[in-house]
Amino acid sequence: MAHQTKLKGIDEDKTKLVFCVQKHDATSLHYDFRLQVGNVMPSWAIPKGPTMDPKVKRLAMMTTDHDLDYRTFEGVLPEGGYGAGPVMVWDEGTYQPEVQLKDKSLVAIEGKKEGTNVMHEGIDKGEIKFRLFGKRLKGSFALVKTNFGPKNGWLMIKHKDDHVKEGFDAKDEKTSVISGKTIDQIK
Ligand code: MN
Repeated sequence: MAHQTKLKGIDEDKTKLVFCVQKHDATSLHYDFRLQVGNVMPSWAIPKGPTMDPKVKRLAMMTTDHDLDYRTFEGVLPEGGYGAGPVMVWDEGTYQPEVQLKDKSLVAIEGKKEGTNVMHEGIDKGEIKFRLFGKRLKGSFALVKTNFGPKNGWLMIKHKDDHVKEGFDAKDEKTSVISGKTIDQIK
């Protein structure tokens, strides 16, 4: 295992669920979006990266769960292994699952245990909603399983709220939120 970069100055509040996005320059460049559910992080590879623009739906391919500790990883995955190439922590923070009420309004779940249950149910159903408190990604989003295309295909969508940034493109945000390095500097 390549060396582990510890998160510096990160609020390690154990009462909150966490998420991360790792920019990963493997066979093809993508952004791994990971949400804590229990001690693991269900993960989606997003070729174009997440966006803060509600007009854009991003394809997100569900991949394998990762251990919670992996969210702090920044470094180079070795040649010959799965996903060989540099990994950069593009965003990180806490999150709250959301549930939709009958009037369509969204309510954030603050309790970690209840939130974890909501996430399990949502992933099984193929639709989750959540509020991100990241450095770059903020506000309400959804991930919805598609009924077309590849079996593991989902779409990530930004809900309209006060955090919308039209035209937001992940590739314009080039540095790690923990080390300040670019993916080329990590490589
Ligand atoms: Mn990856």
